[in-house]
Amino acid sequence: YNAIVLKQYPEALIDESTFETRRFESKALQDGEYRVQVSHLSLDPAMRGWVSPDPSSYIPPVQPGEIMRSLGFGVVTESLNPDYPVGTQVTGMTGWTEQIVAGEGELSVVPAQVNAELALSTLGMPGLTAYLGYHDILQAKQRQQKSQQTIVVTGAAGAVGSVVVQMAVADGLKVIALAGSEDKVRWLKEDLGADTVINYKTDNVSEALTAASPDGIDLFFENTGGEAQHTVIERINPHGKVAVCGLIADYHQAEASPAPSWINLIKRRATIEGFVITDHFHRSAELANGVMHYLEQGKIQNRVHVLDGLEAAKAGVNMLYSGDNTGKLIVKL
Ligand code: NDP
Repeated sequence: YNAIVLKQYPEALIDESTFETRRFESKALQDGEYRVQVSHLSLDPAMRGWVSPDPSSYIPPVQPGEIMRSLGFGVVTESLNPDYPVGTQVTGMTGWTEQIVAGEGELSVVPAQVNAELALSTLGMPGLTAYLGYHDILQAKQRQQKSQQTIVVTGAAGAVGSVVVQMAVADGLKVIALAGSEDKVRWLKEDLGADTVINYKTDNVSEALTAASPDGIDLFFENTGGEAQHTVIERINPHGKVAVCGLIADYHQAEASPAPSWINLIKRRATIEGFVITDHFHRSAELANGVMHYLEQGKIQNRVHVLDGLEAAKAGVNMLYSGDNTGKLIVKL
């Protein structure tokens, strides 16, 4: 079977010299193991960090020669484990490979009624991240029950951001969304129902955010970094809360972007909290149930962007950094 290994760490963007495809021999199963035919891979912004030799991240880097780390989805084709019979759908860290042999607990079983696209997007890692950040970190729904909340979401048309926007719209918050193309702006405004949508590439972000938040900003779900941060912190309301989920604008920069002035955090008794979803994977079932609640009520549209074939993964990752993906970026093998 084919798999893609890391050839060398990229200097800036991932390019043709970063990965190479290799052929592997299938190995015989040991007791307790099962073989999975991988059908879908998830491409995620964090991948740039995983192919950077910096050991200080939240997860060790992939080593040259290793199969590229990745979430994936597949079906069990051979099994010596009664908990994973042939035909079971599974998801987890498969890597960029057509086939994987896994053991007890290494991959999670996906119910038959959940398809691959849903399992890798709204009901998978991005959806759980959105739910955790919105409900647990920002406590958005509880706060909305006490008083009208204004939330700003960056990267709002993406896999994580679009779920946050839709939960906030469903819960009645005032939603200010930022995205980088007219198609994404239209989707957020017309289909998802955000109150104000700002194209951060063409609009004056500071002016537009100020105009859209006459009562200040209570909550900020930060996916990107960039100019919005500064205006949000200037306009943060007393006891406002910022959840730092991602800073994609910085992932290729040698130095972090300048931080906003923190004086308002003191004046307004506001809080900033970073979080990583992998710390909460033991709560996956509970978080997925939370997302399911919105899905079942028809409150969340699932938008996916599917690329064809294993090879597409290599260059496909960069679409996340150029904004060429519209929805959760997935590779179908
Ligand atoms: P998306 O589907 O949102 O894809 C990435 C998007 O980021 C692009 O489509 C692009 O949209 C936007 N973007 C790229 N470069 C920039 C830039 N320089 N400035 C502003 N926006 C940019 O990806 P995900 O939803 O999977 O991830 C969103 C964020 O959440 C990422 O930062 C990711 O690292 C983070 N994340 C964090 C997790 C955690 O546990 N903390 C877990 C999962 C994701 P546009 O066209 O609008 O520019």
